[in-house]
Amino acid sequence: MKIKKNIDKICIETDVYYQALIKSDEALKRKEYDLALDILDKAIKLNEELNGCIGERADYYVRSAIVCRTKKDCNSELAFLTKAVELRGWDWDLQKRGQVYEEMGDFAAAIADYTKAIEAGGEPHSYELRAMTYFKKADYESAIADFTKAIENCGDVKCKGCVENRAYIEKAKKLNGNFVYLPLTNNQKR
Ligand SMILES: [Zn+2]
Repeated sequence: MKIKKNIDKICIETDVYYQALIKSDEALKRKEYDLALDILDKAIKLNEELNGCIGERADYYVRSAIVCRTKKDCNSELAFLTKAVELRGWDWDLQKRGQVYEEMGDFAAAIADYTKAIEAGGEPHSYELRAMTYFKKADYESAIADFTKAIENCGDVKCKGCVENRAYIEKAKKLNGNFVYLPLTNNQKR
């Protein structure tokens, strides 16, 4: 009986789940952001009421974050992604939140999220993201180390991302070297 009940619950929720995703996506395409968020909010409340699947609830939060990204409300986007991180903490959720932090200029918070994403199994992309953040804050040695790890973790020699990562390693090496004697080399070369 208990199993039957659980199956019913899953079926009801699965239908609600796809309806919520489809309807909110349609609203988003029509740029009806408030409606999209409202549909997802109702699905979240129903999920909470039914004590339903946490993964589905996290998906609703991620979708809400996407709506906020489209309407350029980064504070709300951050809040929704935080809910998803708290509920399930997938590497993907952490990568996305890290990117929002990065855009907001909070490099320390971004690096913390990428580090957690690496721990959650999200390499090589998490290494790549953290490497870029280190690069942006001129921590070239850490950037080189992470780009190297991203390449090692990828394994696909021909991949485009790895080619870019190798180029960044070369850039980082130059910038790291120049950091010590930049005025001298600059004058000599020109
Ligand atoms: Zn690669």
